[in-house]
Amino acid sequence: MAGRIPDAVIEEIRQRSDIVEVVSRYVRLEKRGKNYLALCPFHQEKTPSFTVSPEKQAFHCFGCGVGGNVFKFLMMVEGLSFPDAVKSLGAKVGVEVPEEASPAELARQGKKDRAFKIYGLVRDFYRILLGKDIGARALQYLESRNLSGAARETFQLGYAPPGWDNLIKFLAARGIREEEMVKLGLAQTRETGGCYDRFRNRVMFPIWDSQGRVVGFGGRTMGDDNPKYLNSPEGEFFNKGQLLYGLHIARKGIREIGYAVLMEGYMDVVSTYQHGVTNAVASLGTAFTRDQAKLLMAYTHDVVIAYDADAAGVKAAVRAAEILQNSGCQVRIATIPGAKDPDEFIQKNGLAGWQKIIENAVPLVQYKLMQAVKTYGLQNKRKVLQEVLPNLAAVASPIELEEAIKQTATVLQVNWETVLEEIKSFRKNTRKISQIGDNSVKNSHNIASTSNSLSTAQPRDARSHAEAGILRFALENKVWLERIVAELGREFFQNRDYQGIFDAYLASGVEQPLSGLFDLLDEPRQRVLSSILVQEIPGENIDQMVTDFITTIKKSSEKARLENLLAQLAAAERAGDTEKVRSLSRQIHMTMNKTEWPERGVAT
Ligand SMILES: [Zn+2]
Repeated sequence: MAGRIPDAVIEEIRQRSDIVEVVSRYVRLEKRGKNYLALCPFHQEKTPSFTVSPEKQAFHCFGCGVGGNVFKFLMMVEGLSFPDAVKSLGAKVGVEVPEEASPAELARQGKKDRAFKIYGLVRDFYRILLGKDIGARALQYLESRNLSGAARETFQLGYAPPGWDNLIKFLAARGIREEEMVKLGLAQTRETGGCYDRFRNRVMFPIWDSQGRVVGFGGRTMGDDNPKYLNSPEGEFFNKGQLLYGLHIARKGIREIGYAVLMEGYMDVVSTYQHGVTNAVASLGTAFTRDQAKLLMAYTHDVVIAYDADAAGVKAAVRAAEILQNSGCQVRIATIPGAKDPDEFIQKNGLAGWQKIIENAVPLVQYKLMQAVKTYGLQNKRKVLQEVLPNLAAVASPIELEEAIKQTATVLQVNWETVLEEIKSFRKNTRKISQIGDNSVKNSHNIASTSNSLSTAQPRDARSHAEAGILRFALENKVWLERIVAELGREFFQNRDYQGIFDAYLASGVEQPLSGLFDLLDEPRQRVLSSILVQEIPGENIDQMVTDFITTIKKSSEKARLENLLAQLAAAERAGDTEKVRSLSRQIHMTMNKTEWPERGVAT
């Protein structure tokens, strides 16, 4: 993950920096015990659940589940890549990051820089024309849509004139070859040879990457030409599925307001921005992707979707909500009454009307419920319930689930127990199909919802409590680690994330500072690790706790083994396989004798 920055340099920067000092530049920290607490900068909350451990140089939010080391924090709060976070921190602590680019990388970087420069030139070309006589009609059009000078400036709107070669001539005069223009999606080749401008007689919207560099354009007609919106073709620099329109402009607003609004089109973002909505981005009319979710989650884990009001918009909103939810976001979906999209709505109703829409936005389950009732009618309860069951079953937070069950029961006018039973049987049936599934995110949510102290944690069962505790102790010092490995081996966690973290820790050679372990793990595991690391180890009876955790895990493993043997025995008896029955009975007998059932109860 470290890219081309040498590990030793990363390590030095990490050791010279202090996570408490870095975090305190963004939020106000208050000391609590060994840790610091703050209101989370990544989700909206009233009581602080964002925890920073100076001892472990890690942070974790028990509200939204994010966590990691100092680099991760900078990546999230500033929207940086890992190498950029390392460089930025390096500059602050006086460690220079050497550039070790290979010739191939340099060539690619050179090509990229040149592309950004050309796109910048083109943007300026269009902008200047919007202010000239030739752009008068375009300007009029924008004014008719109430797009003020400020919005035009912020979003760098421009005008592509009619005619076949205005841009081509402009670029050619600056030494850019037609071949390059075609590659960058600015010109198209004629079958008869030669090229022509791709964008003609359109209002132009530059499209940026998350760092604010122009990587393409969207052009809107002012009349009834088709298509209404014409984008740059997909290419080396312009991948719609990896871009969010307006993100570099909205990131400040997203952080201040605490959530992001996801829209479909750039006109929606520009138009609502002008009315004071500063936290909106657009998915550019493409099917929302995981990459886009990741981009957004660098700034917030709280998203309101405001897609177009038509059937396609409703469907796309549900899909986007599912992707965001599976990525670990809190999602609500807004309904836009009496208008076809956010642009039209805010022009009619202003910011006050907009804020009502946001307040009335509902969680995915409720939204799907509303849509299903519309489609099937209330008399068709089974159909409606079937529609929302997968979403109900996917709700990880117990509080949210309870709320969702109540709402579903109320709408369908059935007992909430009925809904709960349906969810249970749905979960059971789907679990048969995929035992593990994508539960890493849900897992970190479960951990996130428990208290942040080892001794008071109230997890689902004794085994997972013991596993969390054992992992915490194993990471704390070598004496405990050796004892744990001696008693349980190196592979005993049922929780796959714990096992993955444990594997990475053992593979890293154990001697490294723990905060470096984060860089070896993927995002969900970083969250799990941070949630475990910021838990304080109580001052006394630690040896007894370790013993109890080990006993619990051993006991639970033996119990599982025994249950397995008993099931086999029953099957063998049914099949009349006396040989197998005898052998299994012997094994069961041995297992039961070997198990040291503790005299006293374990700590859980
Ligand atoms: Zn949070």
